[in-house]
Amino acid sequence: MVTATFRFYEELNDFLAPERRGHEFASACARAASTKHMIEALGVPHTEVELVLVNGESVGFDRILHDGDRVAVYPKFEALDITPLLRVRERPLREMRFVADAHLGGLAHLLRMTGFDTLYDNAFRDEEIERIAAAEQRIVLTRDRELLKRRTITHGCYVRALRSSEQIRELFDRLDLARSARPFTLCLHCNTPLDAVDKAQVAARLPPGVRDRYERFSTCPACKRVFWEGSHWQSMRAMVEKLLIPCPACGGG
Ligand SMILES: [Zn+2]
Repeated sequence: MVTATFRFYEELNDFLAPERRGHEFASACARAASTKHMIEALGVPHTEVELVLVNGESVGFDRILHDGDRVAVYPKFEALDITPLLRVRERPLREMRFVADAHLGGLAHLLRMTGFDTLYDNAFRDEEIERIAAAEQRIVLTRDRELLKRRTITHGCYVRALRSSEQIRELFDRLDLARSARPFTLCLHCNTPLDAVDKAQVAARLPPGVRDRYERFSTCPACKRVFWEGSHWQSMRAMVEKLLIPCPACGGG
């Protein structure tokens, strides 16, 4: 029988049984269990984990546990540079692209608004999300931790907040998205990059009040919708500007 001791740090404790939070504890491990196997058996989706140390040394998810091993498990770090220690994944995804589960439509909409390619369909089933994530190297967004335990999902985020306005803030802080945001470049309906167009090209399709008041327009090449900087755009703009300012609690102060 193999017994290892485990210590989970920071918000990873949320996933543990209450009596295991915040301190080291011993757990029996299945024969030839890997770090990933045991971390998930204890309730923590592997996508939430950024660094695993066994006996003080950085290891991958495939490290087999031996009797007496001491395992320390850390979440994604926002501010600390731990790149030299990273072993659990080959490399971070170069581009932040997402697939949101069926319950996160509001968040998907806000991600598109800030320019992040996000697939979402409220008919997506778990298998489909898993397939899309692997095929297109997308980060899975969900509040379902079982989904994040699926084998082929390598990059995922367990979203803690319940309201979409708080969820987008959470993701911006956690994944440091402000730097790569490109607000109002994607179609909110179908996730397609927008094209700027001359007013003359779309004038015939605009309501008269809009035609008189606005000068800048863009269109979606997929769904053909036309966008302009109306009152809805202005309230979105105010929200996006707030997101682009780092949260004072998380910024490197
Ligand atoms: Zn569109």
